[in-house]
Amino acid sequence: MVRPRVIALDGPSAAGKGTLARRLAEHYDLAHLDTGSLYRAVGRRILRDGRDPKDTKYAAEVAASLQPVDLTDPELRSEATSQSSSIVAAIPAVRANLLAWQREFAKNPPPGKQGVILDGRDIGTVICPDADVKLFVTASLEARAERRFRELQAAGANPIRRAVLDEMASRDKRDSERATAPLLPAPGAFVLDTSALDVDAAFDSIVAFIESTTRPRRA
Ligand code: C5P
Repeated sequence: MVRPRVIALDGPSAAGKGTLARRLAEHYDLAHLDTGSLYRAVGRRILRDGRDPKDTKYAAEVAASLQPVDLTDPELRSEATSQSSSIVAAIPAVRANLLAWQREFAKNPPPGKQGVILDGRDIGTVICPDADVKLFVTASLEARAERRFRELQAAGANPIRRAVLDEMASRDKRDSERATAPLLPAPGAFVLDTSALDVDAAFDSIVAFIESTTRPRRA
């Protein structure tokens, strides 16, 4: 089996990145960093502090002073946090303040791990442009909105289908059209559309790609 040292996994929300990243981390024994949680933590702390996510200066300060406890906030996955995180993610100083930490994680995996997988929006393009493997996992807006709708239902919420789709479309637009580190497949990335694939099929197809293109690492 090949053993990539750095895997960059990018794509829009609800394309299946999180589940695939966890499975790939287990398969290749890599440490996993969900970089979206960093932007979520910034977006959430700003809302909790009663501040405006568009307040560039404040958002940059929050990003610079993020604490591990901020990543455990129970509201990290709420819709309000999703929107706030994508607003702060468009602020260059916020991205700059989170960059070094992500690169450090990629360079020096936590003890016991020989490599890393980072998932997000700009891992292959900005954070780890030299990654051994670059993946871009996507799906149609409708397929992703339907997945999120079902997730919310399964979690006991009472979502409105149309609202879930509209909120996802507005976040996609913001993430793709921002000037700094917009959501884009990195050059040479393996692009996988999971609209009609279940997790097992998507995972198998990524592993087949990795096995066919990655050189074995020397011990
Ligand atoms: O992946 P997730 O949906 O948790 O990310 C939340 C938000 O964080 C995204 O909508 C995006 O605006 C931002 N993000 C980013 N760059 C990353 C990861 C997430 O801009 N590498």
